[in-house]
Amino acid sequence: MNTKYLFIVGGVMSSLGKGILTSSIGMILKSKGYQVSIIKFDPYLNVDAGLQNPYQHGEVFVTSDGAETDLDLGHYERFLDQNLLRSSNVTSGSVYQELIEKERRGEYLGATVQVIPHLTQEIKNRILRHTEETKADVIISEVGGTIGDIEGSPFLEAIREFTNENNPDDIALIHLTYLPHLCTTGELKTKPTQHSVAELRRVGIKPTIIACRTDIPLEEDIRNKISLFCDVKRDFIFSVQDVKNVYDVPRMIEKEGLCNALESVWNLQTKKCNMDNWNHTIDKMNHVKDEVHIGIVGKYVELGDAYLSMVEALKHAQIPNNVKTTIHWFQSEDITSKNVEEKLHNMHGILVPGGFGVRGIEGMIIAAQYARENLLPFFGICLGMQIAVIDFARHVLQLDNANSTEFDSNTPYPVIDLMADQKNLDKKGGTMRLGDYDCKIKKPSKAFEIYQQERIVQRHRHRYEFNNAMMPYFENSNMKLSGFNPKRGLIEMVELVDHPFFVGCQFHPELISRPIKPEPLFTHFTKAAKKHKESIAKKP
Ligand code: GLN
Repeated sequence: MNTKYLFIVGGVMSSLGKGILTSSIGMILKSKGYQVSIIKFDPYLNVDAGLQNPYQHGEVFVTSDGAETDLDLGHYERFLDQNLLRSSNVTSGSVYQELIEKERRGEYLGATVQVIPHLTQEIKNRILRHTEETKADVIISEVGGTIGDIEGSPFLEAIREFTNENNPDDIALIHLTYLPHLCTTGELKTKPTQHSVAELRRVGIKPTIIACRTDIPLEEDIRNKISLFCDVKRDFIFSVQDVKNVYDVPRMIEKEGLCNALESVWNLQTKKCNMDNWNHTIDKMNHVKDEVHIGIVGKYVELGDAYLSMVEALKHAQIPNNVKTTIHWFQSEDITSKNVEEKLHNMHGILVPGGFGVRGIEGMIIAAQYARENLLPFFGICLGMQIAVIDFARHVLQLDNANSTEFDSNTPYPVIDLMADQKNLDKKGGTMRLGDYDCKIKKPSKAFEIYQQERIVQRHRHRYEFNNAMMPYFENSNMKLSGFNPKRGLIEMVELVDHPFFVGCQFHPELISRPIKPEPLFTHFTKAAKKHKESIAKKP
């Protein structure tokens, strides 16, 4: 079969859940037996998401091949249960960079290099290269932003050209739009949708399918009206209603028959979709019994998106533990040794996530110390592991003012230090230790109990590391260095031997957790939190 292409573009406003719709469609098509891959087009001029502020951009998602990408790739991977590639995220910045490098090499042979046709050709090349690389049956491309954004226009023009140059049976385009609900009259309004489709047609694109985000059901007359005014077949107008759990979206879309419609556009026979395993898992997630309270002590806590994959990984861990994890966010800057007890004593587990820069560091160290001393389950991820090491060095090994050189370059005990290969870098973008690296697990250890294997592969994103020159201080202490990278000897995991659950990892396990494959560290941390709750209940 020819590769089939689906483009997904949004209208009316942002935050309609285009990423979830894209992921859900991908998941359904995969459940029908197609091999699927996804590309996210990001119209901004950054070359990748790596240097963007989490407050503005949310989490930076790292792929196994080490690309720093948009957080939507996390949704795609979790729904598809599949690793994506660097070529799954295309930013305007990266396309311009390639184009300009080509121009400097003289490859345009004297032509005046222009947005049309040169930049649009580069965008089309990215789609073709991804097709070649993945050999997928279906390539879904989601365009970031909303119709009408100036910076998105080269992508739309590229889609128009691509549609024109290929067999129409191989291409479909979904326009995701919003129908506001006017409470006073109880009506759903279609005018904003009519305008955004008009805007699409102005650039030469006609949607095949319109998906309507609504908070009440889409009545027949509204479907008919959208069909008439937007020139899209009545049967190709779909409703995407609000649901409590994003993982229920595939089931809803499948019921609506949206992917059967896609198959008919692509001239394919309707295949049966088997989503039983997924639905069964999500049902379990929706019906957990007990509840535990997890405190996340971090720097970007005002914005949940900054830690998106971690929040999702905690959700996945609910399933094997049959428990709801309620997250409480703590701004680490606000935590002091005076108020830590008052703030954290109701928590059943403390998680310190990844992060950069000195702000809020002391509050995180106090939180780690509190968890350690009170036998409260503690889980430190990346920066969180470094924090656990600093606390232990200062307060147990009595190494006064021990620190990471990221926060204090003159510390007498640099227990965390810049990795050797990071020392002489002059470029910040894409130069961290990124993507998959091996971790060898020592036996016996909590880490081995958790993973039940001696070698795991995990994704990374950091410049600083446990300083092996400081290792003698840790020998014969209660902090065990339980995981390391076999090639370079870098410490990947630490744990306390005299604590029910106190584990730190230099990697980012949240990036590989999926609803149908919860990541073991999250599962065991949640299990420990549940146990902690039960042990408090038993106390007289
Ligand atoms: N700032 C730390 C480092 O660069 C931790 C990074 C992280 O948490 N992702 O090593």
